[in-house]
Amino acid sequence: MAPVATGEESTYLPIWQDSEEQRQLRKEIRDFAAREIAPNVMRWDEASEFPADVVKQMGNLGLLGIIFPTELGGAGLGYVDYVLAVEELSRVDGSIGIIVASHNSLCTNHIFIAGNDEQRARWVPKLASGQSLGAWGLTEPNSGSDAAGARTSAVRTANGWKLNGSKTFITNGTYADVAVVIAVTAREKGTRGLSAFVVERGTPGFRSGKKENKLGLRASDTAELIFEDCEVPHENLLGTEGEGFIDSMRVLDGGRISIAALSLGIAQGALDAAVKYTKERRQFGKAICEFQGIQWKLADMATQLDAARLLTLRAAQMKDAGRKTTLESSMAKLHASETAVKICDECVQLHGGYGFIKDYPAEKFYRDVKLCTIGEGTSEIQRMVIARELLKK
Ligand SMILES: Cc1cc2nc3c(=O)[nH]c(=O)nc-3n(C[C@H](O)[C@H](O)[C@H](O)COP(=O)(O)OP(=O)(O)OC[C@H]3O[C@@H](n4cnc5c(N)ncnc54)[C@H](O)[C@@H]3O)c2cc1C
Repeated sequence: MAPVATGEESTYLPIWQDSEEQRQLRKEIRDFAAREIAPNVMRWDEASEFPADVVKQMGNLGLLGIIFPTELGGAGLGYVDYVLAVEELSRVDGSIGIIVASHNSLCTNHIFIAGNDEQRARWVPKLASGQSLGAWGLTEPNSGSDAAGARTSAVRTANGWKLNGSKTFITNGTYADVAVVIAVTAREKGTRGLSAFVVERGTPGFRSGKKENKLGLRASDTAELIFEDCEVPHENLLGTEGEGFIDSMRVLDGGRISIAALSLGIAQGALDAAVKYTKERRQFGKAICEFQGIQWKLADMATQLDAARLLTLRAAQMKDAGRKTTLESSMAKLHASETAVKICDECVQLHGGYGFIKDYPAEKFYRDVKLCTIGEGTSEIQRMVIARELLKK
């Protein structure tokens, strides 16, 4: 796959063509999801049960280290492969998609891109192989979109750093063995006064707090992280002091591609369900898919989904080519998530009253998909990022 079509600054890439390996990867994940995930989806959803066994199995399959080099225990694949994997998993259950996404592209990737050689060697192999589960804590009760307004503090001590504060809405927060946490190290320096720390489960003063009861993605875990005089050694400061916010924005450039992939997967699941149902459901003496009004809806859903997929694959391809993707990641995330919300809404509509009933998958796609326009920066924040990048030029 040639990475770039024209000049260095071009964002236009060749039409994407999947390789034999990628088709194989997709098939393996599809089979795995059909076998291990699909039969349990509604039970996990209703009980808000974290699918610990499946997470372990995904570690064995290399899905918890997709984008990391094999020398560090990863699968040695790229972002395009990662998109395919997150999409395939999310097509069956978005909860699994978000668990994989936050572990790979937020927690582990922050250590991978900002850590030094020792830090990478210490944490990435365990995370990438699935021996450890990761979480990434940026959001706080009073700072979400305005992430630089974080209050969690880290104060230098004789042996390292002492953290106080809390993080909210953290994916894998209850179960993570390793958390990357952003804290204020020099308040007067604004965005240059935030630093990232690795905090391991079992560190005195660190605990998980409230586990959230959610609208959707209910099998994924979303919880508070609490730090009370939690002391970590100097070696746990990730990257350079004061660079935590800037590194977080780099992390989100990759993370937003995975939320776009999560959106694609949920929307593809909804489209598949809508096609199946409209072929089966009969009204006025015909299958409802025979009505032109229904066909046009299906055609729009499929077309919009493919457009979102192309934007997502473009961002992934650029990332694999080592390019900066701030603009393209935000465009992909914005468009894919908003498109997916519309597709899942239409899927419920096409199911009529059965779309509102838990015997059919439509209502769950509708609930799960809403996170995609909120997590890793709301749609409004993506528009801010896109406009900022445009106005720079
Ligand atoms: C299920 C789930 C999982 C999550 N996982 C993680 C995780 O693993 N790690 C993590 O750190 N965070 C995580 N988050 C947090 C998530 O990233 C934030 O919820 C999100 O960034 C929005 O922040 P907020 O909730 O504080 O909303 P707010 O920032 O309070 O926003 C409220 C509304 O105001 C709008 N708004 C805010 N500022 C502006 C502006 N300048 N212009 C226009 N509109 C604006 C927003 O778009 C939104 O519509 C998760 C959240 C959820 C729900």
